[in-house]
Amino acid sequence: MVYTLQKAGLINEQIRRFTTSYVHHLSGQFANLEFWLGEIESALSALNEYHHRFESMRDAQKTWVREHGTVVHEYCPICMGRCEFSDGVPIPPVRVPSSDLKKMHKELSDTAYAFILRCYRAGFADESKVRLLCERLGTGFDPHDLKR
Ligand SMILES: [Zn+2]
Repeated sequence: MVYTLQKAGLINEQIRRFTTSYVHHLSGQFANLEFWLGEIESALSALNEYHHRFESMRDAQKTWVREHGTVVHEYCPICMGRCEFSDGVPIPPVRVPSSDLKKMHKELSDTAYAFILRCYRAGFADESKVRLLCERLGTGFDPHDLKR
């Protein structure tokens, strides 16, 4: 299941563009700040809740297979059909490694922080707004970064 990583990667790339775009472009994106913050929050919580979702999915699938005696025979090119070595028990889903999720979470948080600082430097957000946004997204905040 790479959806969670792809979703975060997509918004990460989008927000990263805003950190280097022309100020007149940034002004347009800042008008939709609430939308972009919502997208960032949604991607961060999808990353945070991944393991919980994965366990629900895996358990439900396991229960289904057990209760229905589900048997799956995928085409085997060596046996030219049903594989003689396969017992037909469906392969359980594979979990995305925690390290991949953490890495993506850190990346998106850092990009969101850079975006907030850019809005500050461009004059769209004052210091109190910056603090508020950082707190909301949980990006962390260092007053030293506010030097224009
Ligand atoms: Zn085979």
